[in-house]
Amino acid sequence: MTIDPDALPPLDDMIACPHCDTLYMEQDLPDGARAYCRRCGVLLLTSEPGAIVRMVSFASAGVVLMIAAISFPFLDLDVQGQHNATSVLHAIMAFSSGKGIPLAIAVALFIVVLPVVRLLALIHALGPLVRGARPHRSARVAFALTEQLRPWAMAEIFMVGVSVALVKVAGLATVTVGPAFWAFVALVVITVLNDQIMNRYSIWKALDTGFRA
Ligand SMILES: [Zn+2]
Repeated sequence: MTIDPDALPPLDDMIACPHCDTLYMEQDLPDGARAYCRRCGVLLLTSEPGAIVRMVSFASAGVVLMIAAISFPFLDLDVQGQHNATSVLHAIMAFSSGKGIPLAIAVALFIVVLPVVRLLALIHALGPLVRGARPHRSARVAFALTEQLRPWAMAEIFMVGVSVALVKVAGLATVTVGPAFWAFVALVVITVLNDQIMNRYSIWKALDTGFRA
């Protein structure tokens, strides 16, 4: 049997489930509605007016929180009267000699640099849409970058590691968490929320058409 390509609906009108590749015809959803894959139940489309505005606001807040997270004290250790306050920047610098240099670079990259690059790329890609302007010419590249970097931005994994270490250290010293700790917690929550409300398909479409999704 041969398939006449002209008889198929245009590919631009179809969306594929990111999980099982089932094809669907795209339909406009009413505001607040969600469309799931009938085969595997994965979320395909959402129609949330204001999602892009929220994502840009979250990303901007994330950048401010990251500046706070690296500059304020992160932990304060007290062992028999000996005080030691440390910031994330100090912790990274502690490895920055001899064999520790690759570790310092990796920590800085995964915990600080890549999460910030992701946030800035998102603001660059979606910022103009919030103002009702056309996206920058590099907006698609920037949004693709935020997607590519997602597995490599590991601020949340860092926080899991810190929490485990805190439980261990708590028996040996009096540990006080500093403002940077809470800034990091807020940053992780914001990043997770942002990834939750991000509907890739709607964003690509908004970047294609230049209109707010
Ligand atoms: Zn599916």
